[in-house]
Amino acid sequence: MTNVRRSVLEKVLDVVRELGATDGLEATLELIARSSISVLGFGAAAINVSDGAGQLWVEAVAGPPQIYTLLGASSTEQLWLDLLESAEKWANLRFLSHDVDKSAFRGVPMWASGEPVPTADSERWHPDDTLLAPMWEPSGRLLGVLSVDQPVSGLMPDLEQRTILELFAAQAAIAITDSRAWQVSERKRIQAEGHWKLTFERSPIGAAIVATDGTIVQANDTLVTLLGYPAEALNGMRVLDITHPADVDANLELFLELLNGERDSYEMEKRFIHAAGHSIWGLLRVGAIRDADGGIVSIISQIADITDRKTAEQELARRTSHDTLTSLPNRSLIEDKLNAQLSAGLATGVLFLDLDRFKTVNDSLGHDAGDELLVVVADKLLAAVGSRFEVGRIGGDEFVVLAPGIGDPLVLTKLGIDLMADFEKPLRIRGHEHTVSLSVGVTVTRATHRHADEVLREADQAMLRAKRQGRARIEMFDPAQDRPATVQDLRLEQALRVSLAQGIGLVPYFQQIVDLADNTVAGYEALVRWNHPDLGLLEPAAFLPMAEKTGLIVPLGWWMLSRSCAALKDAEFSDQGRRWVAVNVSGSQLGRGLLVGAVQQVLSESGLPAEQLHLEITETALIEASAASIREVRAVAELGVQVALDDFGTGYSSLTLLRDLPVSVVKIDRSFISPIGVDRSATAIVRRVIALCQELGVVTVAEGVETQSQLTALRALGCTQAQGYLIGPPEPFDLSPSAQSLHRRRSSA
Ligand code: C2E
Ligand code: CA
Ligand code: CA
Repeated sequence: MTNVRRSVLEKVLDVVRELGATDGLEATLELIARSSISVLGFGAAAINVSDGAGQLWVEAVAGPPQIYTLLGASSTEQLWLDLLESAEKWANLRFLSHDVDKSAFRGVPMWASGEPVPTADSERWHPDDTLLAPMWEPSGRLLGVLSVDQPVSGLMPDLEQRTILELFAAQAAIAITDSRAWQVSERKRIQAEGHWKLTFERSPIGAAIVATDGTIVQANDTLVTLLGYPAEALNGMRVLDITHPADVDANLELFLELLNGERDSYEMEKRFIHAAGHSIWGLLRVGAIRDADGGIVSIISQIADITDRKTAEQELARRTSHDTLTSLPNRSLIEDKLNAQLSAGLATGVLFLDLDRFKTVNDSLGHDAGDELLVVVADKLLAAVGSRFEVGRIGGDEFVVLAPGIGDPLVLTKLGIDLMADFEKPLRIRGHEHTVSLSVGVTVTRATHRHADEVLREADQAMLRAKRQGRARIEMFDPAQDRPATVQDLRLEQALRVSLAQGIGLVPYFQQIVDLADNTVAGYEALVRWNHPDLGLLEPAAFLPMAEKTGLIVPLGWWMLSRSCAALKDAEFSDQGRRWVAVNVSGSQLGRGLLVGAVQQVLSESGLPAEQLHLEITETALIEASAASIREVRAVAELGVQVALDDFGTGYSSLTLLRDLPVSVVKIDRSFISPIGVDRSATAIVRRVIALCQELGVVTVAEGVETQSQLTALRALGCTQAQGYLIGPPEPFDLSPSAQSLHRRRSSA
């Protein structure tokens, strides 16, 4: 199974194209039966055709092997007419519910999958339900019936599936009349109407038939509502006239390629101009139907409203570049700006400001007061230098001022002293006055700096020296005094190499992930821990940055993959069921041509089925991934391994990414989960992300769930799974019965 999603329209276009190239009634009906399964997602399909003498015969089937026994069976037209009469009318379709007593229609060849399962849920498909698409001649005679069964989703077919089913039945009708040459004129009539009309007029998605000169020939009701123009006005308008100017060129280029025959379809996200003047975001899909000579017969456009998603994306983008508390640029945006200065070769002064004794305020007055203080400080800094320089908040109580073009240490020192003086007057927080002071470190970019990170580290070092020398001071970076702890770094790296080579000291911890529907453990995330010979048990934050920098993350990652799979497999435990383990994969492990082989080897060595392995890849790693890396990820997904998008919301946050990557799980980052119920816009984002994932059939996992109220809110939002300290911390993995009952006793105590 591939996770690559294509639009239904594209699949239907493919079928229509294939039908044009298929000769003979038998082959045509077979293709239609097969497509009813593959395009519409039904489990079984059969086509009965009238012989014109009062009998209907099963001419084509598709589905499981048993259904082929129906081929060649027949029954009388009258039985069929009675059957259709007793079914519920769904426009041109007939829905034969399991409630209908079918004993009167014995002899009509129908297929049921097995024991009916009683269900009270009207949204769900009952195994004994059948959907029928009758094909009538104008004279009222029955040409045939296309019947489908067992939707894979288990749900009632939606409007789109139903209209396409009608289209397929209409195609079958054409093929039947054609081959019998009963009614040539009837066939012409159906064709002239355009088979598309049927499908798109009632489509829940905005759709239009477009002429080769780009005018709208016919728009459906959904599109009329979406764009706000009256139908009469919309028909005859040029698509480009209702396109946002910024999107005209890109759209025109694709349209011309379609006309030239360079492509048969295209897809783009663009803005349309609503009748009321504002713009709305649409996902446009356009396909051409060609005749045998390649000439264009018609052009179909589908427009889905994605304004909500785009708004969410913009909000996410703002959140990933700005600090939510103070609205100042965050560390990643500050680094981007500084990197831009570095590559422009412009000397830039950097001031690193840290509040003195902030922790005391926080601890004595509470977090809320601490937050308020940070906002006041941010406002003050902005007021002092905001118009000239860039101010950002890069950590708890750490702020940065960037002064592009200012490389003179004296000017920068003066700036820092002025800022410190600004804070001499007490600040009012919650009716109380507080005096805060700043410690400031200063540095200037040099040609030898390769990354913003190095510059910020220097300014940080200088600030730390200011603190050591008594706080409320300003210090200039001095390479001789502020050397970073490189010797320690080297020692740590050496120790990790030894641990990796000897396979000792590293331990996978497992953290439970539960299904919110029934509170059962669905699987575990494997998180590395390192038992350092001198420093004791280290968390990833203490050594993974070093491992990333030195490349040791790659062997470490493979080791974790193999150990975690083996550990899960070893844990033969009765109620373990089919729990999976999710292993983190670093971006450095991708694009080396190693991923697929490593996964295959681990699966075969451990004997773990592919479905029980998940790989977690961060959003940032996937965005930065090369085409080769994406191919690798796609290939492991095709092995049956699930790919999870980790830390969702912290990277570029493109919801579009979800549609294009073989991702079946999204892990919503803790920074969005903690403010749930408190910060309304964070809650709104989580709601939209979950809704989009549901639409795409992607599982959502909430990370870092710490409180019962978060859990309740997430359940209400429809989140699939959750992970966090509330459910359980990462622990050494031991599923032996005694350890299990111990855990249970502990958690129920
Ligand atoms: P992550 O993938 O986002 O993993 C989740 C982190 O959140 C874990 O931190 C986990 O202990 C922590 N966590 C879980 N529940 C809660 C909660 O309720 N509240 C809070 N505050 N935190 C919670 P940990 O184990 O320290 O791992 C940190 C990061 O190190 C991971 O973040 C992951 O990016 C990385 N990492 C860990 N093991 C591996 C590995 O084997 N390979 C790679 N490439 N990265 C790893
Ligand atoms: Ca993870
Ligand atoms: Ca994560």
